[in-house]
Amino acid sequence: MAVERVNTLVVGAGQAGLAMSEHLGRHGLPHLVLERHRIAERWRSERWDSLVTNGPAWHDRFPDMEFPNTDPDAFVPKERVADYFVAYAEMIGAPVRCGVEVKRVERLPGRFGFRVETSVGEIEADNVVAATGAFQRPIIPAIVPEDAGVVQIHSSAYRNPGQLPAGAVLVVGAGSSGVQIADELLGAGRRVFLSVGPHDRPPRAYRGRDYCWWLGVLGKWDAPAPRPGTEHVTIAVSGVRGGETIDFRRLAARGIMLVGRTESFRNGVVTFARDLAENIARGDANYLSVLDEADAYVARYGLDLPEEPEARQLGPNPACITDPILELNLREAGISAIIWATGFTADYSWLKIDVFDEKGRPKHQRGVSPEPGIYFLGLPWQSRRGSSFIWGVWHDAKYLADQILIQHKYQQYHANAKRQVTAV
Ligand SMILES: Cc1cc2nc3c(=O)[nH]c(=O)nc-3n(C[C@H](O)[C@H](O)[C@H](O)COP(=O)(O)OP(=O)(O)OC[C@H]3O[C@@H](n4cnc5c(N)ncnc54)[C@H](O)[C@@H]3O)c2cc1C
Repeated sequence: MAVERVNTLVVGAGQAGLAMSEHLGRHGLPHLVLERHRIAERWRSERWDSLVTNGPAWHDRFPDMEFPNTDPDAFVPKERVADYFVAYAEMIGAPVRCGVEVKRVERLPGRFGFRVETSVGEIEADNVVAATGAFQRPIIPAIVPEDAGVVQIHSSAYRNPGQLPAGAVLVVGAGSSGVQIADELLGAGRRVFLSVGPHDRPPRAYRGRDYCWWLGVLGKWDAPAPRPGTEHVTIAVSGVRGGETIDFRRLAARGIMLVGRTESFRNGVVTFARDLAENIARGDANYLSVLDEADAYVARYGLDLPEEPEARQLGPNPACITDPILELNLREAGISAIIWATGFTADYSWLKIDVFDEKGRPKHQRGVSPEPGIYFLGLPWQSRRGSSFIWGVWHDAKYLADQILIQHKYQQYHANAKRQVTAV
């Protein structure tokens, strides 16, 4: 049987794969998108039940389609995000094949292109775009052993409070996931301990504009690289209850026990770093710096936006910050579960091409790898801070499609020139 051939194979039909398909289609480049499950599967089934987008509907979307019947300032529930991408795929006529997993990609010996082994057969492709997502493999630091007598899950496996055994919960990590999960558990009547590491916490809104708008006009979404020394700083934001600034003092006042970074475990006791006050202070500094920059922007361009001096009133630190718990006996505290909201890593085990550094990270420039024909999309900071977000990946896909078209033209020239030589 003849092997199926395609110019460009896109692996994964999340937002990255669909954006790639749109731009390849615009250039008239033949391509195929393979998705092992369903379109936008992660939004559909790999997030907790109550998740809404962290950015408002006017911002967290692709340029050419709005969320239907949705207030642009609303935060969209995850199922509707998945529906949006399904509708988007239909709108652009994306050639997506669902239920097909890419198992292995290797270079064709002695000629240009790749042999792609899938769950349903073999394909040959001139180019492969890895759009399989940056948030794939959960990271759980090896701190608490599995037999410690508590349920331990990663935030990606958390669905709702009812899934956890009765009792108190330790949530480790205070980025958007950890904070939102801790908040939901508190609302469900759980006693909650929240382990807070370094974080940024921009205001949800300031002077009548959402932080997504502020980060945009202040050029922060376009920042090309993390600030030195802040590579792993997570951003704590939430669209829950119509969107609120993450305020750790308010969470503490509502009953969440804040603790520092989770450090170790011994004899049933978890220890926390003495860094809570410092982490909170740095988060405050980040928050206040956004207010300062926003005020300067308003003044400079004479914007008519209401002043909001109360946003600067942070209030005193509660006792859990000034006199933090450094050790916690899980049994005595009644903790039945630990949720590790400690992030993700990528998984390119199927890509058998030498395009990774010693830490397994893709080698690339704006998604273009040093191996001709291999491209990455959806990487954090691929070209800018916004790269792994819905709106940002669309622009990175546009750039990649341009690069693929450029290379395609060289190949076309070569093929035509060869024919002419043969004809002569
Ligand atoms: C909890 C959480 C909340 C988020 N909230 C927001 C938000 O509000 N706004 C925002 O802009 N961003 C948000 N993000 C970031 C980002 O938008 C999402 O993670 C998004 O899902 C990334 O899209 P993607 O297409 O790059 O990857 P994915 O959504 O992970 O899509 C990759 C696809 O590839 C498929 N796949 C993987 N391996 C293979 C294979 N070998 N063969 C075939 N198919 C394969 C997967 O099934 C998947 O469908 C959030 C992320 C997380 C973790």
